[in-house]
Amino acid sequence: MRTVTVVGASLAGLNSVQQLRHQGFDGRIVVVGDEPHRPYDRPPLSKALLAGRASVDDLWLCDQEDQDELDAEWLLGVRAEQLDPAAGRVRLSNGAEIDTDGVVIATGGQAKRLPGIEDIQGLHTVRTIEDAIALRAELTRGAGEVVVVGAGWIGAEIASTCHELGLGVTLLEAGEVPLSRTLGDAMGSVFAALHTDHGVTLRCRTQVGGIANAPDGDQRRVTGVWLTDGTQLPADVVVMGIGMRPATDWLAGSGVAVDDGVLCDPGCVTELPSVVAVGDVARYRTAAGNTARHEHWTNAAEQPATAIRNLLAGTTIEHYRPSGYVWSDQYGVRLQVAGELGQPDEVEVVDGSPSDRRFVTAYRRGGDTVGVLAMNNPKLFTRMRKQLAKRAASSS
Ligand SMILES: Cc1cc2nc3c(=O)[nH]c(=O)nc-3n(C[C@H](O)[C@H](O)[C@H](O)COP(=O)(O)OP(=O)(O)OC[C@H]3O[C@@H](n4cnc5c(N)ncnc54)[C@H](O)[C@@H]3O)c2cc1C
Repeated sequence: MRTVTVVGASLAGLNSVQQLRHQGFDGRIVVVGDEPHRPYDRPPLSKALLAGRASVDDLWLCDQEDQDELDAEWLLGVRAEQLDPAAGRVRLSNGAEIDTDGVVIATGGQAKRLPGIEDIQGLHTVRTIEDAIALRAELTRGAGEVVVVGAGWIGAEIASTCHELGLGVTLLEAGEVPLSRTLGDAMGSVFAALHTDHGVTLRCRTQVGGIANAPDGDQRRVTGVWLTDGTQLPADVVVMGIGMRPATDWLAGSGVAVDDGVLCDPGCVTELPSVVAVGDVARYRTAAGNTARHEHWTNAAEQPATAIRNLLAGTTIEHYRPSGYVWSDQYGVRLQVAGELGQPDEVEVVDGSPSDRRFVTAYRRGGDTVGVLAMNNPKLFTRMRKQLAKRAASSS
């Protein structure tokens, strides 16, 4: 393999380049990124950057020296438009073509927007630096009421940051409680209380029917949110935290199978051994025979080690084992998750108390602890996380 093209110049893309060099690849590496920036960290976009506690300069994942050491060609502000595996070619939005032997798909995704709702002033999503800067400008320009749609991790963080900025916040959630699909109803209720105890209005079992808006000069501007039950909530700013859509459009016609992500085997290899996928865009087959796609920082940082090993070997010699580590910061508390929290037989608080905002919860299946959730207790969390990793390693 003489040339590898990494498409997507963010966390998973950067880690892929680092792994290529770390694992001894001394050929040509071309990185294609449609954002104009070098790789940057997204978690602060909904937290420190939005709150004004960090600047864009705090976000870079590597400096010029790190980039130079990797000896890669960085084509930034350019989109990959087409992959032609038979010809071994990636076509770019600027008309250029890259002849390549291997391809790493690290294209993440775009924030979802409510269907059928046009682009109007005051309506935001947060996925990029520009998104966070635009939202912060509105929040600090005298917005009074903010409605956040979706109480998942990112929606909850944005609600928390808006509260920190002194704004009135209503948080809308379709489910019974926030994060119920990830954490279960009991722990989801703890997160519901975290919002309401800080004065955020949380409305669960709520669906958005439309965005109320009015003319503002030659544009239109948000004035509120219509719920499907007919209620109108007034809003100066509306933020949609309703998930992301994997960026796979550019793979149409390539033969790479796509279904809510790039489909790959347990080693992150697609049907074509010279094409692998990593990070938020990768949907791989699990040991249990399901498929999984993760939208978390640690996955995007860890997955490239396996994918690159298999790419360089020309076949799958290693399976990916996720650590399942996720963190979130809301209302001054640190939340941490590791392992698998889905379908437990038992969920038990094993230390502290949710009402003190300091606790650790074990998720058990068949008597074994398979997952752990902690709030403001990093010490015990880290110990239990290590035990989970040890057990996973010995059972594989
Ligand atoms: C606001 C926010 C807060 C977050 N907070 C946390 C947190 O607290 N904890 C946590 O664990 N995770 C968090 N995450 C998730 C974490 O940031 C992501 O999992 C991680 O960024 C995924 O990295 P990635 O490289 O796979 O994808 P991305 O970061 O999405 O990068 C993909 C890159 O590919 C580019 N691209 C797409 N299509 C093309 C194309 N055709 N050609 C060229 N380039 C293309 C994109 O523009 C982008 O630059 C957060 C995410 C967001 C958005």
